[in-house]
Amino acid sequence: MKKSVDTQLIGLRCEHCGQQKAALLGWLKEHDELACDCGQAIVVRANDLVDAVKRADAAQRRVMFSPMADQAFV
Ligand SMILES: [Zn+2]
Repeated sequence: MKKSVDTQLIGLRCEHCGQQKAALLGWLKEHDELACDCGQAIVVRANDLVDAVKRADAAQRRVMFSPMADQAFV
């Protein structure tokens, strides 16, 4: 079964504390910001999502060649 890019985890860096947060691409499309543990919000920019979709697409292709690739996102 082909995975949708919406189920790909996308990493976003908090500008306030530098922490890397991950969220599903499908979720990010529906939200403008992601709450960080430091109490600030990470603004989700459309440009970031475009790049993220490209990276997710490339990652999906790698999955076809490497069964371990999926686990790299955990
Ligand atoms: Zn933060």
